[in-house]
Amino acid sequence: MHRLAAIARHAVVVLLFVCGAAQADAGTQFRARFGDAFLDRYWALHPDEAISVGYYKYADRLPAPDTRHRAELKGFLDRSLAQLARLAPSAMDAAARTDYEVLRGALEAERWSLVEFRDWRWAPSQYNVADGFALLLDTPYAPQAERLRTVSKRLAQVPAYFAAARAAIDHPVREQVQLAIQQSEGSLDVFGDTLEKQLAGSALSAAERATFLRRLAAARQAISGYVAFLKALDARLGKDGGARDFRIGKADYDQLFAYTIQTGVTPEQLYARAQAEKERLHARMDVLAAQLWPTYFPGEAPPADRVARIGKLIARLSDQHLAPDRFYPEVKALIPRLEAWVRDHDLVTLDPSRPLEVRVTPPYMRGVSMASINAPGPYDAMAKTFFNVTPLDDFTPAQAESFLREYNRWLLQVLVIHEAVPGHYVQLIYANKTPSRIKSLFGNGAMIEGWAVYSERMMLESGWDPSPEMELMYSKWALRVVCNTLLDYGVHVQGLSEDDALKLLMNEAFQSETEARGKWRRVQLSYVQLASYFAGFSAIYDFRESLKAQLGARFDLKKFHERFLAHGSAPVAVITPLIEAEDVAR
Ligand code: ZN
Ligand code: ZN
Repeated sequence: MHRLAAIARHAVVVLLFVCGAAQADAGTQFRARFGDAFLDRYWALHPDEAISVGYYKYADRLPAPDTRHRAELKGFLDRSLAQLARLAPSAMDAAARTDYEVLRGALEAERWSLVEFRDWRWAPSQYNVADGFALLLDTPYAPQAERLRTVSKRLAQVPAYFAAARAAIDHPVREQVQLAIQQSEGSLDVFGDTLEKQLAGSALSAAERATFLRRLAAARQAISGYVAFLKALDARLGKDGGARDFRIGKADYDQLFAYTIQTGVTPEQLYARAQAEKERLHARMDVLAAQLWPTYFPGEAPPADRVARIGKLIARLSDQHLAPDRFYPEVKALIPRLEAWVRDHDLVTLDPSRPLEVRVTPPYMRGVSMASINAPGPYDAMAKTFFNVTPLDDFTPAQAESFLREYNRWLLQVLVIHEAVPGHYVQLIYANKTPSRIKSLFGNGAMIEGWAVYSERMMLESGWDPSPEMELMYSKWALRVVCNTLLDYGVHVQGLSEDDALKLLMNEAFQSETEARGKWRRVQLSYVQLASYFAGFSAIYDFRESLKAQLGARFDLKKFHERFLAHGSAPVAVITPLIEAEDVAR
């Protein structure tokens, strides 16, 4: 492998020499053609996505998802891909080449969805306008009156939007119809009393307010009409059948995997790797359980069944958890401890000039996760990165207990490692150092999640809590990632049944029935995404191990991490050829 990479690099040098200036500035050409003006054209066609990344120029647009809009999108994607095909990535510098690959992957995937996968016909949950409106109303990017005028213009387009959505739907997946009903009903909240109050207290003139209210009423009616349409559709599908299977099948799975995962393996290879990892984890957990048993169940004989034995120990260890009011302060206190550890053990250089600000999750962002990184988008002037932590105030005592048992004494640490140090937050700081709008906008999910999952394992390898209790709990955590991969491929490609899926999660990954049922629901509504965590992790881990094997004692872990992170959120298979053994040698 190493030799091949060296030959390939040599060939590039020769090519440069022969072809001269035109090739030499392939990177410059790429930057000129796919810079801010290109992105502006992209956002004009994707105003909703633009709002979500903080680009508000087209925020008053809400294009109806009709045939004309899809033709316009396809034309744009075809032209952009043809322009990309005329450039030679092999002649570009690493920064441009990684941008090129990221952008090509994103545009190809979008074109494929539009032309081949055509989920716009069968997944009615993608027609939802609430997020864009909520962001415009909640983000103080401009004075309130200006934002309300933008919202008013957008509201006027909602009826046409849902008329086009209804016309687009054909032979849908029933689970997606039901999701769309639930989400559309929920989306009416955004257009409710709070908005009317906001309007009443605003600087808009009486005439502007009257127009706004008229448009608001029509928008609500359009959403309610969409819900009624979906309910009738759901009833018909329940009575007559004829819904599309939620399983996407092998051909589509392979294609989507190829576009989005990009770690250099096939779905079959990843599935086999996950099977092997599951076996390895089970064997190791059994050893740990035998070791821990006498401490936690003195004088009691362990169950003969391996799964039962391990499961009982996990349940007993989960009793060691925080009180609800300690959740926020403990998470906050962990960050400086993790940073000191990473520094003292030479794992990766941290940048003290970009501190992470831990805060209570703002109310409008709650309900998704309990702890998450909120990073400024590339168009956001706000340079702060927040670690949002949701206090358990809104939980019932039973909900809090179940949550705190899951994020117990050990797994709470793994959660903060994953989200913050040296997981997502540290990766993000590195990605921001090579400022690339393309990579931060179209970053590869398998690389981003893969790094966070890799950082958990790496921290434990460095000696952070070397207790058998931690290793056992971490193994359960790791099994979740592994089984997500088995589940995703199993369900969509191999036709795994609900019963067998629940068995896999509850008996082999030690999940509660509630967690397993939630995961079953998620796998019916998503595809490939659940496999991205293990795909990224295993590719990074295996690459590191191969470099270690080549270099032996000369391998430098810190250099490896910094080299790997230096290319932004590019796909793992794009990054690895840019790193050679000598780059990470002492
Ligand atoms: Zn308890
Ligand atoms: Zn993550």
